[in-house]
Amino acid sequence: MDIRTQSALLAGIIGLALGISMLLRQQRARVVTLFGVFALSVGAFHFARFLEGLFPIVDDAPGIPARVMLGLTIVLGALVPSTALSFFLEFLNFSPRAARYGRRTSLFSLLLGLTVGATPLADQLWARVAVSAWVLLALSFSVSLLLSRMQASEARIDRLRLMYLGIGAAGSIVFSGLDFLARFDIPFPTLGPIISTLYLFFLSQTLLRLRLMDLHELLGKIASQTVLAGILAVVFIVLTVWVQKDNTSLYLFNTTVSAFVMLILLEPLSRWVEERVVALFFRQRFAFLESVRQLLRRTANVIEGQQLASMLLDGINETRRVTHVSIYLLAEDRPGFRLLDSRGPQPALFVDAGTARALVTRTERAQLLETVNRRAAELKAQPLEARKAREEVKRLSDVRAAMEQMRAGITVPLMGNDRVLGFLNLWDERVPEAFASDEIALILELADRFSTVVENSKLYERMRERDRLAALGEMAAGLAHEIRNPLGAIKGAAQCLDPKTVPADDREFIEVIVEETNRLNGVVTAFLDYARPLKQSFGPTDVNEVVTRTLRLIQNDLPAHLTLREELAPDLPRVDGDAEQLKQVLINLVQNAAQALGNTRGEIVIKTLKPERFGDFRQPDSIEIHVTDSGPGIPTDQQLNIFVPFFTTKQKGTGLGLAICQRIIKSHGGTVAVQSKLGDGATFIIRLPSLPSEQPASETPLPEGTPMPGSIAPPEAARAETRASRREKKKKQRA
Ligand code: ADP
Repeated sequence: MDIRTQSALLAGIIGLALGISMLLRQQRARVVTLFGVFALSVGAFHFARFLEGLFPIVDDAPGIPARVMLGLTIVLGALVPSTALSFFLEFLNFSPRAARYGRRTSLFSLLLGLTVGATPLADQLWARVAVSAWVLLALSFSVSLLLSRMQASEARIDRLRLMYLGIGAAGSIVFSGLDFLARFDIPFPTLGPIISTLYLFFLSQTLLRLRLMDLHELLGKIASQTVLAGILAVVFIVLTVWVQKDNTSLYLFNTTVSAFVMLILLEPLSRWVEERVVALFFRQRFAFLESVRQLLRRTANVIEGQQLASMLLDGINETRRVTHVSIYLLAEDRPGFRLLDSRGPQPALFVDAGTARALVTRTERAQLLETVNRRAAELKAQPLEARKAREEVKRLSDVRAAMEQMRAGITVPLMGNDRVLGFLNLWDERVPEAFASDEIALILELADRFSTVVENSKLYERMRERDRLAALGEMAAGLAHEIRNPLGAIKGAAQCLDPKTVPADDREFIEVIVEETNRLNGVVTAFLDYARPLKQSFGPTDVNEVVTRTLRLIQNDLPAHLTLREELAPDLPRVDGDAEQLKQVLINLVQNAAQALGNTRGEIVIKTLKPERFGDFRQPDSIEIHVTDSGPGIPTDQQLNIFVPFFTTKQKGTGLGLAICQRIIKSHGGTVAVQSKLGDGATFIIRLPSLPSEQPASETPLPEGTPMPGSIAPPEAARAETRASRREKKKKQRA
């Protein structure tokens, strides 16, 4: 069997297999069916050529089988342009008129094949050459269809795809044509069957795979496998070719040795070849992969989030592979994600939880804008009957909105233990499909590295803060006591002065001394309260009840021009908390609101509610308490400071009220935040984890330190303290 016959057999088997596999697909589109038929016809043609090779025409007097095979080859060969045309016309979406012409051409081709193949004309060389020329011409016509579509196409990505297909088709036709040289005894390697089979395979992948990037990779794989096969073949040839023909045992020995050599070389060699091929043909991608790998190595020892973020962003930006790159992190003061840092044109500074929700609930690791767009377009083309499809369209448009805000072509959620910490976004606005899967894999790795560092550095910061606070607290408590003692003495001494002995003008000073020592004493007491470990007694607590009791308690103390109102959510789940301390928090907040309102008429509302779940993670359920006033509001620059101890804007304020509130709420595993617009009142939002509702509250205290949705977990210090106070309580009970 000569090499032509062998390669025809190979191409025949692959073509038939490809065609059958396509036709066996369920729910296939018409274009896939037509491709299946096309592949089958190519396979059948090659197979017929193989059979023809088995029965060669000897001495110009062909026997019956040789004649039949020859006829079959001619008919099947003429069938190829017919099936090719039908497929390409459908694939390229040509108008029905063009399709009609196409069908006529196909029919002509078939008739021509039959006329020559099934009659004595098959014996005539000129007739065979005429059919071959027609086949090549008709196939070239298919290529011209591809190219004309390519020029008409507006989307760059489609143009690229069609260009590859056009080049592949032209190559297959040229090499198949060159195969005929052999018939005229002109030596030329038989490449037609191999190249046309490869092309068929590539075409099938284009139909089945949606991403052009995957096709790039496929091309890379084909190229690298071909190079690898070449290298291994050289190894084999070098080791066996010099063995004399009759020396079978040496030949077998060398074959075995070369098999071993190949086995040893295969792994490292294939990696090396693949890398070289990517470096050669996909230079930009190679450079990006290299720099990201280096970046991963360089940042191995960085443990600080901000520093790592800058390194990552700079590193990615320097590759010039993307036009936008940014990192968002979970905001601590309100639900949503805040821009940490970015390179390239700046994206939105804040993406609220509502917008990001679609991204957060996704289970996929990376979200690609191109996939979202394509899926949305596909769904749009379908009738929107099913509710599910409608929901999916909405979800996709949400995802797109979020990605557009963050200017992301690919967005990777930064995953913490149980929640999304933020997003890493990359985008190359110059190309529609920017990332190959090996690039995506590395981007995911970067995101993982960053998430770990963010989690760890938060933990580290919390530990450091705890130590710092512990030391500061001890020192400050000592200092406060030192101040308090002489304060008592000063006040006592001032009170001892007999007002009669003091000149009338100076009596006022005694009052000032007593008043100011009282105030200072108040500050010191509040501070000691703040610094002292909280004494808490936790238990299932009905927050609605706490609100009602607090209201009853302070209602009478409020001036008449202020109204105090409660709006309680029915069926509010209970929380694991200390009712007295929660009451203290509410009193502080209402007092602040009253002070903010001053003499103006106004309303203070305490509202309880069960917020919507944010994200799809193992978050505990939670409840919220909103304390809203219609006062002057808080300027944005002050909003960051109001929880800082001693920050006050009041003449006689201690600046500890809110700090104490925050401390109590954190010890409950919750958060407190403010929302306010200048001139439009202020709302303090307390979130507390609620007890799981499906089990009896008394038996299921919430796991300690369960993080809140959309918030940072309570500081380790507060948790440790809660544990300590519980232990203390137990000890007392035992005593
Ligand atoms: P203090 O009340 O002693 O000043 P806080 O910690 O309770 O200390 O409050 C800190 C600051 O926060 C206040 O000085 C005030 O400027 C601001 N603030 C608190 N609550 C409100 C509110 N409801 N409206 C406007 N500003 C407020």
